Amino acid sequence: MRTYEKSRAKLAEAKQVLAGGVASTLRGSMKPTPLYAESSSGVIVRDVDGNEYIDYLLAYGPLILGHAHPGFNEKVGRAMAKGISYGLQHNGEIELARRLTEVLPCADKVALSGSGTEAVMLALRLSRAYTGKRKVVRFHGHYHGWSDSIFTSFPSPDMMQKATSAGESSVPPGTKGQSEFSLQDVILLPWNEPETLEATLREHAGDIAAVISEPVMCNSGCILPKPGYLEKMRELTRELGIVLILDEVITGFRLSPGGAHGRFGITPDLVTVGKALGGGIALSAVGGRRDIFELIDSEQVSHLGTLNGNGVATAAGLAVLEELTANGGAVYGTMEDNAIKLAGGIRDLFAKRGIRGVVNQIGPVFHMMFIDEDEVTHFDTFQKRDAAKYAKFAEYMLDEGVLVRPNGLWYISAVHEPSHIEATLAAIDRTFVRLTEGK
Ligand code: PMP
Repeated sequence: MRTYEKSRAKLAEAKQVLAGGVASTLRGSMKPTPLYAESSSGVIVRDVDGNEYIDYLLAYGPLILGHAHPGFNEKVGRAMAKGISYGLQHNGEIELARRLTEVLPCADKVALSGSGTEAVMLALRLSRAYTGKRKVVRFHGHYHGWSDSIFTSFPSPDMMQKATSAGESSVPPGTKGQSEFSLQDVILLPWNEPETLEATLREHAGDIAAVISEPVMCNSGCILPKPGYLEKMRELTRELGIVLILDEVITGFRLSPGGAHGRFGITPDLVTVGKALGGGIALSAVGGRRDIFELIDSEQVSHLGTLNGNGVATAAGLAVLEELTANGGAVYGTMEDNAIKLAGGIRDLFAKRGIRGVVNQIGPVFHMMFIDEDEVTHFDTFQKRDAAKYAKFAEYMLDEGVLVRPNGLWYISAVHEPSHIEATLAAIDRTFVRLTEGK
């Protein structure tokens, strides 16, 4: 059995000086203890106890090229040697912006920031300024960062019903310290229900500035949009003068170079991207329609940030895009093949071991859950999963040398190989036995 004693000791030390002991609240939930990394390369992470893991956490998504990718490190290192940040303009900003407008179908122009949260904040601000309206429709089970104006808890179906029929949010804030007024402009709806969306948008069109949606519900079960659902969302928002924001912080550059909207052929007015774009460096962007960005050109809308467009971030974005689009984007096929193999293998192991579960996969991302259902296509069904059992599974997988997120979402990188997938499936099989035997 592996030990995690040095990680435990580090956490105790961190708690003396670092709020919560971890740098982002979510990371504190890892069992048996939040791990402390020592080093990493490719798909392998090493912790301070000397344990090695095949990594499917990938830093919660950014490491689409894996750890310490030589080409990426070389380009970012070169940029860093030249000058990290100027507070002046530099060519890297233009190059990255141009490249983004080439790969993201909806982007005539882009604005650069440092995190997905900030990109969403800007997209919402632009939408309000553009439409002169205030309210924002968002969906149950989606996540759009932790800013006060959009961060909600995941309420019960009863509360949802109340919120939906009231046409506005009666949803409690996502955290203590968030003003109870911060969500007053948010209308929270169930996702994948075209009728509910249509009724709400038609009734409140005069007040609604934007609909913001993950194109695939990656934050809750990797649930795909029903056929026609995103198209309906697009049609309605266009007809009713509402800005459609697709939040592609997870799906951007992952489902295709043009993200989910490129893959599905839906053109939002604005898109938010982050995570994979920076390859592990803080970088995000909003892309979209020229006439909306005119609000920034004319300085009617402010877009700020001391480190926006810094030389390291722009070099990182360019390096990621170069790697992902090399050889006609062949790596997307490789990543998807590996994801299909792993997701399919897990389904086979569910059957072999008589365990009820579902794996929802698209491109190099999937959600694995223990649940007594044949399929999970709605957030309410997703909520029935056995989250505690999955957390135990994730904990046992550490003993097998596989690092997965405790909530069920798996990422495949460009450097995972079939041998990693096979080793992982063997580890899962042993872990299923251990789970069943309760050891
Ligand atoms: N939007 C989505 C869809 C996300 O998944 C996330 C992060 N998980 C964010 C926004 C926020 O991004 P960040 O953590 O970089 O602020």
